[in-house]
Order: sequence, then C-alpha cells, then structure tokens
Amino acid sequence: MDAIQGRSARLPLNLSLAVLACLPLLMGASARTTNFTVDASSTQVAEQVARRAEECRKQIALAWLGHTLPDWPRPCPIRVKLTGGEAGGLTSFGFHRGKVTDQTMQVEGRLERILASAIPHEVTHTIFAHYLGGPMPRWADEGASLLSEDERELARHDRIVDELFERRGAFALAQLFAMEEYPRDLIGFYGQGYSISRFLIEIGGRPRFLEFIRDAQSENWDTATLRHYSLANVRELERAWLSWRKVGDAADHRAVALAQTRQPRATPSARIERAEPGATFQR
Ligand SMILES: [Zn+2]
Repeated sequence: MDAIQGRSARLPLNLSLAVLACLPLLMGASARTTNFTVDASSTQVAEQVARRAEECRKQIALAWLGHTLPDWPRPCPIRVKLTGGEAGGLTSFGFHRGKVTDQTMQVEGRLERILASAIPHEVTHTIFAHYLGGPMPRWADEGASLLSEDERELARHDRIVDELFERRGAFALAQLFAMEEYPRDLIGFYGQGYSISRFLIEIGGRPRFLEFIRDAQSENWDTATLRHYSLANVRELERAWLSWRKVGDAADHRAVALAQTRQPRATPSARIERAEPGATFQR
C-alpha cells in the first residue's frame, strides 16, 4: 500500500499574524508513502509528489527490470523547490558492498514539470542504482533516465541531438563510454547519451540494455556489445548507431515536409545535476 500520510509543520503560538502568514512557505510540509518522504511548500504539493514518485517507482521498475522492487528499508527523502522554471533534479547515492546504503533526491521547477519530467527521471536513477548496486556509467545513467521523461522533454532532447550532429560533433563512443565525470559540453553529453540509449533500447529493449551495462562494467564494452547486440565491438556499435541516426533523420525530414512546419529550436537548459568528488554519487 502506498497510503500517504501528510504532515504540516507546527507553528509556535506566540507569533504575529504577519509572520504566521509567511511561515508555511518557510517551514513547509511533508508527506510520506511507503518508499518516499517528501518535503515541500504545502502538504498538497508534498502528497502529489510522493504519490507520483511511488507510481513511477513501480512503472519504471517494471519497464526496466520486468518486476517491481521490494520496499526500501528506509524511505527516500525528496526535497521539492517550486520555481517558475523548467524541471531539474539531483539524486545522490551511497553504496556499500553492491548495495545502495543511502539515497536523497531534490527536484525543482513548476509542479507540472516536476511531476511529468523531474520525478520520472530521478526515480529512474534509483532503479538503476538498485539494479547495479553501484554507480552506472554516466552516459547511460543520464541518457536512459531522460527516456522516462514526457513527450515534451523527449522532443526537446531530440532537437538537442540534431543540434549536436549539425553543429558540435559527437564524442567517439569509446570515449563517451569511458567518461567517469561530466564533460564541459554537458548538453551534448546528455544528448548523445540519450540518442545511444534510445537506439539500444529500440533494437534490444530495456532489460537487455541494463544487462549490457552490467556486463560491460564487469568485463568490457566490446565483449558486452557482442554478447547483447551481436555487433563485433564498440566501433561496429558506433557505425550501427550512426546509420540509425541517418535513417531517423530522413524520416524526420519527410514528416516535417508533410507538416510544412518546424518547431523552433529550444535553448537547452542544463539540469541542476552535477558531479562532485567523494563517495557519494550524484545523478
Ligand atoms: Zn539525471
């Protein structure tokens, strides 16, 4: 059961009305489900986010693992900051002996964007962390988490990938796969990780993608590529991905010609996620 228990902060009695009016914003409220505790500016917001996180935890685990996760021993705390902007998020993990020992999440943006984009994205990181019991390679962790976002965000990521190919140039796959920290071109890095993840999932599905990542970490990328995608090595995988991109581009151009319209390019905004040294992994 994911019954939600709401809790508003208690107010001291000796405060003036003016201060009282501001306090809900300062002190906030919280809600709790089986696997999440949410702190937000109001109980209603906290409850909505907690319910959505719980729902995503089930759906995303089913899609990627084929089964739901057992309840966590401790709920994952989520801090919500409502702003007028786009969604952003950050999830930090601690690992010990192949298990997640600690996890915390922060999300920000408009509530509608948090529910549609930031929560599914951040919850996907938690599913991957529990599956692997350690940090996932960054390109895959971010690229595949972007796939959990809504249509609006997916369209934005598609435009970023188009731009990546038109103007910036992509990383060589062997280089991308070896990256342990976020590079300076964060948007391009996210875009390329998203594109490759989408390609691998289209040809092999989500569970196989995770098996590929797990085997690549314990063995190497070439062996895992051959085993899971029947491609000789990472170079062959890169060729296959680039061909898929070209075919996709041609299909996109036909669709655009038919519609006789083209959406303006969005200016990509970096999520607030960032890498920091230490034993805690932030995603
Ligand atoms: Zn992320």
